Amino acid sequence: MKYQSTRGGCPEQNFEQVLLTGLAPDGGLYVPTELPQFSKSEIASWCDLSYSELALKIVTPFIGDEIPAEDLRKIIEDSYAQFDHVDVAPLEKLGDEEYVLELFHGPTLAFKDFALQVLGRLLEYVLRKRDQRVVILGATSGDTGSAALEGCRHSDHVDIFILHPHNRVSDVQRKQMTTVPGDNVFNLAVEGNFDDCQRIVKSAFADQSFLPEDRQLVAVNSINWARILMQIVYYFSASLRLGGPERAVSFSVPTGNFGDIYAGYLAKKMGLPIDQLVVATNKNDILHRFISNNDYSVSELAKTYSPSMDILVSSNFERYLFDVFDRDGAAVADLMARFGKDVCSIPDDKWARVSAMFDSASVDDEKTCEVIASVYAESGMVLDPHSAIGVEAARQTRRDQGAPMVTLATAHPAKFSEAITAAGLASPKLPPHLADLFEREERFSVVANDLAAVTDFVATHARR
Ligand SMILES: *Cc1c(COP(=O)(O)O)cnc(C)c1O
Repeated sequence: MKYQSTRGGCPEQNFEQVLLTGLAPDGGLYVPTELPQFSKSEIASWCDLSYSELALKIVTPFIGDEIPAEDLRKIIEDSYAQFDHVDVAPLEKLGDEEYVLELFHGPTLAFKDFALQVLGRLLEYVLRKRDQRVVILGATSGDTGSAALEGCRHSDHVDIFILHPHNRVSDVQRKQMTTVPGDNVFNLAVEGNFDDCQRIVKSAFADQSFLPEDRQLVAVNSINWARILMQIVYYFSASLRLGGPERAVSFSVPTGNFGDIYAGYLAKKMGLPIDQLVVATNKNDILHRFISNNDYSVSELAKTYSPSMDILVSSNFERYLFDVFDRDGAAVADLMARFGKDVCSIPDDKWARVSAMFDSASVDDEKTCEVIASVYAESGMVLDPHSAIGVEAARQTRRDQGAPMVTLATAHPAKFSEAITAAGLASPKLPPHLADLFEREERFSVVANDLAAVTDFVATHARR
């Protein structure tokens, strides 16, 4: 399988090359040059497979012969053996044809584990084969950091540096990152906000001359294609359990960087019958305004109870726009230079495709808490605030007589107890493997909000 940049300005790459990088050199994101297609009968034949076996079927065509089948099988099996539920991604019934797909049974309690457990093992496999070492540098507003650290800490060929905004992540989120052991694991608390962290990371990727000579930077946020790839699997898994592919299923997805919902879009393009795809946003609603009204104007960032969706501009949206613009890289490059600034809409015929593909809704904090309380009263289920936004968006947009609606529950409620207590419920308990989290020793370094402070730190701490 070959990959190309959404901005059309650089040569095609193979899976391994795409895995070991971040953005394409032209500033675009890598996407496969073509998507594998699965027939209904082929999908139906997978209905008795375990989660790992299903994952192997779906991701193999994207990797081709670059990793031998048996090695890939072991990487995937080891990854999902870290989850503490036999179904890996269990489906719970909430109401009439209404379901919740629980994606928080991995080591760090958010759906990020689905991709980052695999990504860490893939990196170690490929780097060992190439006898190469790399530096992972990433910025996190919370969930990505802990999942990346947990996924990569066993990798001998990786040093991992995660930036988080000092004093601006929740206690559970900070503890989950700063208590990860390992002499290749570094947490940097930057004296700034999340955007400052992201800006520093972006500048570091653009000029990597600070690194020891034989190193390069690898991205672990969802600009890395392998992240998206692993998230396609659970759409198939949920559908198969609800009578798919014979009948279509709808999905509602709490959305920040548009990675998770983009994976659902790809599943649909690969042949999985999906009816509605619902983009669920919080008050930071640029995607909802664009999908419902062709309005892509960037507003001020609002802080909400669902911080993993507090994002102004979603990086993966460019991957989808590449299709909307008929895979014309030059047109995408031109649009991205101005989109959200002096250009806030796209031509009507193109936008019509967007509004036909997605439904959307925006849910504020007050409503989020109401939904957490009412779902608990109805069913005894405690939703985390991101998942509650998904359930509410599903209820607002579901068509009459529509397909079964599955909301992706993206995090465990114990990660976001502020919203749960604001909804009037008791603070949820951490699962057993994290019960002693608050007694564990923390390690992190506070650094100035400054590129050189970060690159100096990386240069001196990367293992020789
Ligand atoms: C990352 C995250 C999201 C947003 O996912 P995207 O792929 O960025 O759209 C939603 N909820 C939770 C809990 C997350 O950690």
